[in-house]
Amino acid sequence: MMSKRVVLWAVGAACAAAAAVWSMNACAGGLQKEYKSGIVWPEPKLVAPGKSDSDPPADAIVLFGGQDLSKWEGGENWDIKDGVATAKKSGLTTKEAFGDCQLHVEFATPEKVEGKGQGRGNSGVYLMGKYEVQILDSIDNPTYFDGQCAAIYKQSPPMVNASRGPGQWQSYDIVFTAPRFAADGKVEKPAYVTVIHNGVLVHNHFQLLGGTFYDRPAAYEKHADRLPLQLQFHGNPVKFRNIWIREIKPIEGKKPE
Ligand code: MG
Repeated sequence: MMSKRVVLWAVGAACAAAAAVWSMNACAGGLQKEYKSGIVWPEPKLVAPGKSDSDPPADAIVLFGGQDLSKWEGGENWDIKDGVATAKKSGLTTKEAFGDCQLHVEFATPEKVEGKGQGRGNSGVYLMGKYEVQILDSIDNPTYFDGQCAAIYKQSPPMVNASRGPGQWQSYDIVFTAPRFAADGKVEKPAYVTVIHNGVLVHNHFQLLGGTFYDRPAAYEKHADRLPLQLQFHGNPVKFRNIWIREIKPIEGKKPE
């Protein structure tokens, strides 16, 4: 058994060691010089987020909030009921054009399961009217993987299949960087897309190979910096609600002269 004196000595030595470490850290802290980039940043604009992360933030353009399709061409060919728009006989094209953006779309493939493969619950989100993020009923519905739900059509399957079943509400949160073209039509920078399907990341900054086509390989064709967004009609009564978009641009600081 340790004597009282030995115990007191041990406790005192431990305290002294702890104090030494503390003072060394403080000493090192005192010698550190703070790094500053010298870049002068503007203050990031305050943007009030939505009530939930699915609701539009204050700076979003609401493309469909449940009332009408006045922001779109082709709305007369859709049914609107109980805050839901259902495809009937044509696609939809926004009246406004968009480039780099953050897009939120909620959709549901038909509850009544009909058809198979590409014929079941097919629609699609066409960024700039050219680059399709596929919508399909992909529960127990075999098809080519780069054509299933959340595929970049004929360019890449989603990393995982995060689909919900027929009739259930699903969401896409998409971050899109538009391609940049030189005057002669050459691609200066390709397009990139990040897709989150029902909260699950399925494409991480995917580099698009060009427009998405059914009958030919992907290819870029020079186009404007901004183009309308489209929702595809593929013969199936796919439903949509809560669609909003935010134009995005990187914050830019001034480097010192
Ligand atoms: Mg489609």
